[in-house]
Amino acid sequence: MGYKAFLERMGEVNDLLCAKSILSWDERTMMPRGGADTRAKQQATLTVLARDHLVADETRRFLERAEAETANLPEDSVERTICAQVREAIEYHLRIPAALVHKRAELGSVGHHVWAKARAESDLASFAPLLEETLALNREIAECIGYEGHPYDALMYRFEPGESVASLQPLFAALKEGLLPLVKAIGEKEPPRVDFLQRPFPVEAQLAFALKMARKLGYDTDRGRLDLTVHPFEISFTRNDVRITTRVNDEWMPKSLFGTLHETGHALYEQFCDPAYTRTPLATDLVGLYAVGGVSFGAHESQSRLFENHVGRSREFWELHYGELHDTFPEQLAGVDAETFWRAVNRVEPGFIRVLSDELTYDFHIMLRVEIEAALIDESLPVSDLPEAWNAKVEEYLGLDVPNDRLGVLQDVHWSSGQVGTFCNYTIGNVMAGQLFDTATTDPRIREGLAEADYLPLREWLTEHVHRHGRRYTRNQLLEKATGRTLDPAPYLAHLTRKYSDIYGI
Ligand code: ZN
Repeated sequence: MGYKAFLERMGEVNDLLCAKSILSWDERTMMPRGGADTRAKQQATLTVLARDHLVADETRRFLERAEAETANLPEDSVERTICAQVREAIEYHLRIPAALVHKRAELGSVGHHVWAKARAESDLASFAPLLEETLALNREIAECIGYEGHPYDALMYRFEPGESVASLQPLFAALKEGLLPLVKAIGEKEPPRVDFLQRPFPVEAQLAFALKMARKLGYDTDRGRLDLTVHPFEISFTRNDVRITTRVNDEWMPKSLFGTLHETGHALYEQFCDPAYTRTPLATDLVGLYAVGGVSFGAHESQSRLFENHVGRSREFWELHYGELHDTFPEQLAGVDAETFWRAVNRVEPGFIRVLSDELTYDFHIMLRVEIEAALIDESLPVSDLPEAWNAKVEEYLGLDVPNDRLGVLQDVHWSSGQVGTFCNYTIGNVMAGQLFDTATTDPRIREGLAEADYLPLREWLTEHVHRHGRRYTRNQLLEKATGRTLDPAPYLAHLTRKYSDIYGI
């Protein structure tokens, strides 16, 4: 009975987190602006309740009984994994004093406004005091969490457990060595034409086409839906209600289409998690108290990047589906063939803004942020030198001269939310996507499927090796089981080199 009662208790924590997520979905898709203040309080209340329920003495008693009851099962059994993860989550949360959690939430609620104004006016000085406070608070939190090498390791733990400043160094070095010469060579080539992507594409037709493609890839709309938002996201409350959002820009058509394919990848992870994990910690990220699912943010991101980039931006995909796209938008795409379209949606153009960057230059935006955040946290970089350090890295990695802080250090929303340490998962996701796709496509059934627009074999392989496990394994355990080794950038680098050498004739 001990284990069953404990699971029910965890189900309640899960219910609170999922209720909070529904409020969050509504806030970002449907809620009138007037509801913002009250909604923030409602969400904060549910988060606090979930945390309190998790760390309560009574929960710990349930956990102890469950641990005793399951002690004879194998260490890697589902039961013992759940107990161990919950113990870790409780210890993590108890290490951070409530006052600091409260302070971070407060900084987050005032931060957004201060940052938005500073960004609009490109005025770092007006945001700097708040940034100083955010950094000081995060240093304090890092000390509470504890770390072996670098304080930044403690801050990344919530998002990418096991990753550290030291472990990222060889990964980043390999990416720079592999990609910098490629970006430079592409800069000397004629870019593909993209003019036709900037024509007005009617919003409804864009959404309908994007959803049609999402369904082809396996997204089950009986257990999901697509809505419009400002910042696209995927969110789930159970595997049977997994929602995605996109934004539509009628002057840059790829945004909603590839944004939808990206969120579809996230959604498949949730929709194909083992049904037995419903309402258990294996379907919910307890450490972050986020109902995100997945073993790490990077692992989750691997699924979105795989479907967006390896499937959605492949030549094969557009050889198969361009006809349908052309039928949907005959005027906008008049005189444009599949090959021209495929090249256009893969144009490489180093830019200042991370969220607008292409597949090839994206990781440089991440590497510079991780390097700068780590230096801010260990105080080797003072905030007063931040723009100079940022701009020097943009020059080094992307060959661009940053004209102002709006296009530089002030562009990301992240620091205004009180959070530091959230960036590396995007690059981990890219690398992991390359590795998984490379292994999956050694299976001829999957390759034949991709050549015939049958995406079921790929989806089934990913479900078998990734989706169904939920949060059961660590990221590297998952990779080892699926590909025979831990995180390895070689397949990702090979994919980028092959693809962009082809497009740009290098
Ligand atoms: Zn994503």
